[in-house]
Amino acid sequence: MVYQREVVASLPAYVQGKSIPNAVKLSSNENPYPPLASVLETVREQAGSFNLYPDMSARDLVERIARHLDVRPEEVAVGAGSVEVAAQLIHACAGEGDEVMFAWRSFEAYPILVRVAGATPVPVPLTTDDRHDLDAMLAAITERTRLILVCTPNNPTGAVVTRDEMQSFLDRVPSDILVVIDEAYTHFDDDPDSASGLEFFRNYDNVAVLHTFSKAYGLAGLRVGYAVAHEEVAANLRRVAVPFGVSALAQTAAIASLDAEEELQDRIDLIREERSRVLAALREGGLEVFDSRGNFIWLRTGANTVAIDEALRERGIVARAFPGDGIRVTIGTPEMNDGFIAAILSAARLNE
Ligand code: PMP
Repeated sequence: MVYQREVVASLPAYVQGKSIPNAVKLSSNENPYPPLASVLETVREQAGSFNLYPDMSARDLVERIARHLDVRPEEVAVGAGSVEVAAQLIHACAGEGDEVMFAWRSFEAYPILVRVAGATPVPVPLTTDDRHDLDAMLAAITERTRLILVCTPNNPTGAVVTRDEMQSFLDRVPSDILVVIDEAYTHFDDDPDSASGLEFFRNYDNVAVLHTFSKAYGLAGLRVGYAVAHEEVAANLRRVAVPFGVSALAQTAAIASLDAEEELQDRIDLIREERSRVLAALREGGLEVFDSRGNFIWLRTGANTVAIDEALRERGIVARAFPGDGIRVTIGTPEMNDGFIAAILSAARLNE
């Protein structure tokens, strides 16, 4: 086939969580609540200038993020969603012959992004309790390893890397390998022992952190995320970025969301409470489920995955199934979660 690099033909397409009419969609870890009224108002006020290109450097947003996190603006790089920033990080660090490591199972996009960059993905299996196996990851480092992605809380298992684990890991990773801590779900993480990416960014020259406005901030449809990275790395991200990648709409909404932190915290609290309620209801119903620190839970359904996923669909619930492995279910509004609890308990009975 012409017009195609060899690797492209063999790439699996990234599969989006499907929706079916009238079903409850719990397949994409979206926030079930619409953007805050103050965010929508600000966007409306600025809509009259959408005939103009956005500020390519997203200066106002970058400065607002820097102030929010107490880092320097030179240490912030934005993109159209954190998945794009992850792609930029990979493109900036790894190419043909280089290796990029990540735990597996983790975020579905990682292996695809690595292969598009021409590098080699090195997936390292999670432990038997679905956590990062950091010792195995250290053992898998070679002289070709350029970048390591650590997703905490991990999508889809919901497990976190603790502060002590991260410290001992970073102390042993060679300093010429960039470690990217993907914290897409960090706002939902209420484990006091969890590693904080920013803390490690401040203490290690080879650490970068990924954050997104898609989850807690509820702006998945606008596509905006960012990396906090040391100055030279952040500068490289800007070099490989597609010009004007973050729309004016997304920049405006992201700034307004950071200004509405308190209201957002109420929604985050609501989702965390619902997560506890869902987990308790499933356990009461006899299902074994690990704790999750994301806005989703993980059911290890193994060989029954496809059957249970179908039974859920028949009951109007769309979750995200990974055949042979498990099902990830987003925490929605209380009503959505009630629907899911009823559906999974009756679906699980069918499979006993
Ligand atoms: N990282 C992780 C771990 C994710 O689960 C996701 C989205 N599912 C992303 C990054 C990307 O999110 P976005 O591009 O919307 O910021």
